[in-house]
Amino acid sequence: MIGIKTKVTCPKCHQTFDYEFIPGASMTAVRLGNYRYMKCQKCGKWTFFNVIKNASPEDKKVIGLSAMLFGSLLAVLGAIFIVQGMSNGRMIVWIVGIILVAAALFMTGSGAASIKNARKK
Ligand SMILES: [Zn+2]
Repeated sequence: MIGIKTKVTCPKCHQTFDYEFIPGASMTAVRLGNYRYMKCQKCGKWTFFNVIKNASPEDKKVIGLSAMLFGSLLAVLGAIFIVQGMSNGRMIVWIVGIILVAAALFMTGSGAASIKNARKK
């Protein structure tokens, strides 16, 4: 696994610190496309960080691709939930499936956006 080192800026205290992004696996942070919900190393508050903002075009591509890959996997998982929910008539499973697919679309979309963004330069 290769880690990408980038700088992130805390929206709460506006301080910048180094963040190592590991594509495909984030144990300490919740992934949401190009955003990570994590604890600020400076002020200790939990907030959303834009991890691609200060990344190089090459890194943006890797992060974008990993978001798209993760998004596709999540879409498959969501589809399984929807099919399961419909076949056994359990509404809650169906709803979870819809939420997963929505999150997957968001991730794939933001991944594609960061790749597009990287190509601009
Ligand atoms: Zn902070």
